[in-house]
Amino acid sequence: NVQLSDRVNNIKPSPTLAVTNRAAELRAAGKNIIGLGAGEPDFDTPDHIKQAAIQALNEGFTKYTAVDGTPSLKKAIINKFKQDNGLAYEANQILVSCGGKQSFFNLSLALLNEGDEVIVPAPYWVSYPDMVIMADAKPVIITTTQAQRFKMTPEQLEAAITDKTRLVVLNSPSNPTGVAYSLDELKALAEVLLKYPQVLIATDDMYEHIRLNDKPFINILNACPALYDRTIVLNGVSKAYSMTGWRIGYAAGPAWLIGAMKKIQSQSTSNPTSIAQVAAQAALEGSQDCVKEMVVAFKARHEYVVKTLNTIPGVSCIPADGTFYAFPSFQNVIDNDDRFDDDIALAEFLLIEAGVALVPGSAFGAPGNMRLSFATSMDVLEDALGRISKALSA
Ligand code: PLP
Repeated sequence: NVQLSDRVNNIKPSPTLAVTNRAAELRAAGKNIIGLGAGEPDFDTPDHIKQAAIQALNEGFTKYTAVDGTPSLKKAIINKFKQDNGLAYEANQILVSCGGKQSFFNLSLALLNEGDEVIVPAPYWVSYPDMVIMADAKPVIITTTQAQRFKMTPEQLEAAITDKTRLVVLNSPSNPTGVAYSLDELKALAEVLLKYPQVLIATDDMYEHIRLNDKPFINILNACPALYDRTIVLNGVSKAYSMTGWRIGYAAGPAWLIGAMKKIQSQSTSNPTSIAQVAAQAALEGSQDCVKEMVVAFKARHEYVVKTLNTIPGVSCIPADGTFYAFPSFQNVIDNDDRFDDDIALAEFLLIEAGVALVPGSAFGAPGNMRLSFATSMDVLEDALGRISKALSA
């Protein structure tokens, strides 16, 4: 019996990656499993992006770069923020990291001390609470319901703030619910935040470009520019350009905080992969048609999935504003079926009986729901929903 750190004992492995692994294991054992657990687009990385990396490789761009990213990629990111978001940043306000995951990890380690509190509205991306715990701080979870479209109210936010609150995390559109805050909702949250100048805000805009309706993307800084000095914007190329394996994310914010995050990164990974940075620059500077094509497919699948889920007795699903996830409630199914007692048991049941892998809502702090990723073809989705419906009614 080896002794490990409290740090590692206090966190759990990523449950979404675990579902993907479990599906792969069953598949390797010969089972026919449809995986709807993955958090990545099913499309290949667009060719012009791959070509940029191939060229960089052939030209020998294979050495360390600046820790915080190449000057030319940082310039592309600054231009992106200006054009897409109306936000102005200098180079010392930008940090490029090994995926959006490392951006939030750097933020947690650079900002938090033991006893500090971080407000995380649930349903949340699985990694926020565990990364906060790794930094010895405490996640304070705000529970939301499907009836409130999984969005925290200003009253809930204010009630959660204490003199220990250091950070509030916003993720809109949200993984796992797909819902986005409206301009008015963000303004109302900002009204609360303006009263507490010691609180910083992280806005995780990772799904900015995966929008399923006509509402334009906005974040808290668009709603309230006065929060600029204490807001950190997190984004990346993983989801928008189908580049999850390349591991490039970036953060923008106050220079003092970005500098501290860079210091953490300088003693962990150093720079993100040189050729992946070239690819990310090509993604940001090249034609955005590839994004539009993916979104067209996601919209059609979203419509089909939400409509079909709502035909399954006991299941209810609200439409998403963005992302490639549906987050239906199975609470009535769970309450009325003896074969499973909670969403975790239901996920296991669907995996074994229907051969469909979904992530239980508990993983996101929202038991009774299930996350279904529609980053897969329409044929597969039809098959999967048919199987789920059949297994539940059997
Ligand atoms: N933020 C959110 C909300 C996500 O869903 C993800 C990925 O699942 C990330 C950040 C991290 O993305 P990556 O590290 O792959 O760039």
